[in-house]
Amino acid sequence: MKFPSKLFINGDYHDSSSSRHTTLTNPATEQAITEVASAHVTDVGIAVESAHRAWESSWRDLPPGKRTEILFTVARVLKENVEQIAQLEMQNIGKPITDARDEAALGARVFEYYAGAITKFCGQTIPVARGGFDFTLRQPMGVVAAIAPWNFPFPIACWKTAPALAAGNCVVLKPASLSPLTALLLGELAHNAGLPPGVLQVLPGWGSAMGDALVTHPLVRKVSFTGSTTVGSQIMQLAARDLKRVSLELGGKSPNIIFADADWQKAAETSPMSVFSNTGQDCCARSRVFVERSIYEPFVEKFVAATEKLVIGSPNRPETQLGPMVSANQRATVEEFLDDARKHGSRIACGGGRPAAPGWGYYLEPTVLLDVNKADRCWREEIFGPVAVITPFDDETQMLRDVNASPYGLSGSLWTNDLRRALRVARAVESGVLSINSHSSVHVEAPFGGFKQSGIGRDLGMTAMEGYTELKNVYVAE
Ligand code: NDP
Repeated sequence: MKFPSKLFINGDYHDSSSSRHTTLTNPATEQAITEVASAHVTDVGIAVESAHRAWESSWRDLPPGKRTEILFTVARVLKENVEQIAQLEMQNIGKPITDARDEAALGARVFEYYAGAITKFCGQTIPVARGGFDFTLRQPMGVVAAIAPWNFPFPIACWKTAPALAAGNCVVLKPASLSPLTALLLGELAHNAGLPPGVLQVLPGWGSAMGDALVTHPLVRKVSFTGSTTVGSQIMQLAARDLKRVSLELGGKSPNIIFADADWQKAAETSPMSVFSNTGQDCCARSRVFVERSIYEPFVEKFVAATEKLVIGSPNRPETQLGPMVSANQRATVEEFLDDARKHGSRIACGGGRPAAPGWGYYLEPTVLLDVNKADRCWREEIFGPVAVITPFDDETQMLRDVNASPYGLSGSLWTNDLRRALRVARAVESGVLSINSHSSVHVEAPFGGFKQSGIGRDLGMTAMEGYTELKNVYVAE
C-alpha cells in the first residue's frame, strides 16, 4: 500500500525544510508502517503565505456556483476513494475497518452538504429606524488554520475544511502527528478534484514544534481546533494576542441518564457502544452512567453482559467493534486511571486488563467500574479510553447537580418515556449536544460543540459555516 509521506503544499507533495520525520506505527501490530515528513516553522510560513495568495487571487472571488461545483466534485472523488481512505485510517490508528469506511463516507457527505450550502448561505435585509436600505454580508476571513486530532482524523479534517472552504476561505490543515495519512490524501484528492493549488495545504508535524508558528502567523485569521482542553486553552491564549477568532472542540465527560420509566433494557444493551466505541477514544463518550436506583442492579447486569459480547480484535475484520488504542502511551494513561480506581476501592464489574489474545497490539478490555467515589479521578477526568462508570441515583435534582458538577459539557444521553421529564432534564443538562432515547451525537446538518471547558464555537451545520465568516453590515442612504 502506498502511504503519503510529505507535506502537501500548493497542489503537490514537498519535502520538509527540516530533516525531521515521524515514524508511524500500526497500533494493531506494533510494526512501523511508514515515515512522514514533519513540517518546520519555515514550512508554516510558506504554506500560510501561499494559501493567502491563493485566497486573494482565486478562491475568495470565485462565483459561488463555481465553488459549489468544485466542492461537489471533491465529495464525489472522496466517495470513489472511500476504500483507500478507510484502509489508510485502519493501518494508521487501528480503527476497525467497518468504522473507517463509515467515517470516510461521512467525510464525503460533509463536503456534499457544504457544497450545497454555498448558494443557500444568505445575509439579512434589516428595516433600520432611519430608513434607507440596510443589509448584511457574510464575508470570508482569509486563511484558516485547522488543527485536527487522532481519534477521528478523516471526518474531523473534513468537517473543519469543508465549511471553511465553502465560506470562501483557504485552509492550512495540521493533522495530529499520530494520524497524518488521510489528511494528506484529502489534500491530494481535493486537488485532483479541481481545488486550485494553495487553497488546501496539509502540514503534518509536531504541534509542540510548529503549532505556535501556525497559530500566531499574522495571516491566519481563525484557528479551528479539536483536541485536549489543555492545548485548546493554550491556543486561545496565543490567539488572544491579536484577537484571532477561535473555535475549540475539546474534551468531555458526558452523562448517560437512565430513568426507570424508559426502555431501560434497550438503553442497557446499546449504551456500552456509546462509551466503548472507538475504544473509548471519543470526546462524546458517555462515560458517566446515571441509573435510577429501582433498575440499577438489572441495568448493570445487562450493561455488563452487552459489554462482554463486544467483539474486540483485528481492525481488518468487518465484525470487529473494538480495535486497539491508538498508541502505547494512550493505553498506559488509561491503565493509570484503572490503577487509581483499584487503589480507591472501586469495583471492576468487567474488563480491567489487556486481553490475552492476540498478544500484541495496544489492546485494552472495555471496563465497567462500580462504587466509584465522586472525588476520584475516574469519575472527574476524561479518561479517553474504554472505561465506563455506573452509579445509581434516587433524586432527579441531586442527579442533575452531579451531572453538571463536571467542568465539561459536550454531549450526553437521556432515557425516559415521560415527555415532560425529557424536556425538563434536557434543558437542565449543561451540554452542547444531547440525545433523548438515543446515543447519536453527530449530525452533519446540526451544530456540534460544547459548553464550559468542552469548547467554544460549533462544528457542522450552517452554524459552522457562519463561524468561518465575518459579518458585515452595509447601509445605503436613500
Ligand atoms: P492534543 O490536544 O495534544 O492534540 C490535538 C491536536 O493539537 C494535534 O494535532 C496536536 O498535534 C495539536 N497540538 C498539540 N500541541 C499543539 C500546540 N502547541 N499548538 C498547536 N497544535 C498543537 O491531544 P493529544 O493528542 O495529546 O491527546 C491528549 C488528550 O487530549 C487525550 O487523552 C484526550 O483526553 C484529549 N483529546 C481530545 C480529543 C477530542 O476529540 N476532544 C481528541 C484528541 C485528544 P500533535 O499530534 O503533533 O501533538
